[in-house]
Amino acid sequence: MPTDPVLVVHGGAWAIPDDMVEAHLRGVANARAAGWRVLERGGTALDAVEEAVVVMEDDETFDAGRGSFLNRDGKVQLDALIMDGATLRAGGVGCVEHLRNPVRAARKILSESPHVYFVAEGAEKFAAQHGIPLCKNEDLIIAREVERLREYQAEANSHGNELFAPAFDDPTTSVDTVGSVALDHNGNLAAATSTGGTLNKAPGRLGDSSLIGCGCYADNLSAAASTTGWGEPIMKLVLAKWTVDRVAAGNLPEWSALEAMNHLKQRVNGHGGIILLNPEGHIGIAHNTPRMAWAYKTVKRQEAGVIRGDT
Ligand code: ASP
Repeated sequence: MPTDPVLVVHGGAWAIPDDMVEAHLRGVANARAAGWRVLERGGTALDAVEEAVVVMEDDETFDAGRGSFLNRDGKVQLDALIMDGATLRAGGVGCVEHLRNPVRAARKILSESPHVYFVAEGAEKFAAQHGIPLCKNEDLIIAREVERLREYQAEANSHGNELFAPAFDDPTTSVDTVGSVALDHNGNLAAATSTGGTLNKAPGRLGDSSLIGCGCYADNLSAAASTTGWGEPIMKLVLAKWTVDRVAAGNLPEWSALEAMNHLKQRVNGHGGIILLNPEGHIGIAHNTPRMAWAYKTVKRQEAGVIRGDT
């Protein structure tokens, strides 16, 4: 019996301002449409999450691909992970500076490398050798982000660098990572997450998003998850794996996603959001930030929003 497919996407968890809500909703809806096109013609969950994430990497609304936050040196540095719940194969890239769609490179690693994770020039070399064109770092930078970094650094200087801690412990701070989880006709799960990381990050800093079990995880025996939010606390809890283990223990995704957000807050004072999907097609969407852009589609219904009512 073929399984009914399901697709869920997110586009970051923070206090998305009113005047940016429409762009976020449009972005996650476009991503959902791209992923769903794959699933409805019988394609794999892996292809669906890749296509959904590519759409959001290409959308400057989000902190992924072009338009991402700049690091301390004024460069875009990107991380991405994709994981196959059927085989547990995964592909990740970290600190890449010359790829428009890091999730495409991650997918090549999953499919064509015995390794799981490549960083920096090695990742870019692997991508180029596998037919993915490299771009200039400037091609990923937009004026909005140059200005945002300038303002941030001016503020930091006025406080004295040592004293001015980044405001990532503030749940309203902008973090716009993207991710997707999917279930296909064959009952297989997949997950993908892609990010530009955090504003003014130190060059070489890697967050949770592209680390297996932190920002992303998929296992047909439990669930698929993609997280977003302040990366350092999420990493400490290995939050995506923590949450899918809750599902494996018999809890519904809806409940497990909420539990994950409580755990994040209570244990390490973290904030963010999560999307979760089990092999039966049950969905969990939760955030402990004021808003998170999300969208999902099943055979029977589709919804999108920036606040998940059951949080
Ligand atoms: N988790 C990402 C990071 O810390 C940021 C985000 O989710 O937007 O790199």
